[in-house]
Amino acid sequence: MNLRPHDLGLSRCSACQAAFLPSDGPCPRCGGWSRASLSVPSTGTVLASTEVVYPATGWESPHRLALVEVSEGVRVLAIVEGNLPSRGSRMDVRADGATYRARISPEGPRQD
Ligand SMILES: [Zn+2]
Repeated sequence: MNLRPHDLGLSRCSACQAAFLPSDGPCPRCGGWSRASLSVPSTGTVLASTEVVYPATGWESPHRLALVEVSEGVRVLAIVEGNLPSRGSRMDVRADGATYRARISPEGPRQD
């Protein structure tokens, strides 16, 4: 899959057309195993965020997490780079190995 700099890679189930984060497991909606790659804009909207003051060993404190909804209604739990975002903030999400990271989008707040 060729991703542009501001794309996020997803999978689309060939059976039920659900979009989901790439994984080794089956489709989270129907349990099907056939899928195709899909790329969507990496900018999404923060649904919730939290700050963990005493994270597990090996993680920096404070450890900030945001639940970000991107295209297709896919929700990504991402490690926040920077200040804790408020609900409705726009963030750019990127895959970083087995985790996701997010930072405030230069696009600014959602206009709706
Ligand atoms: Zn499915």
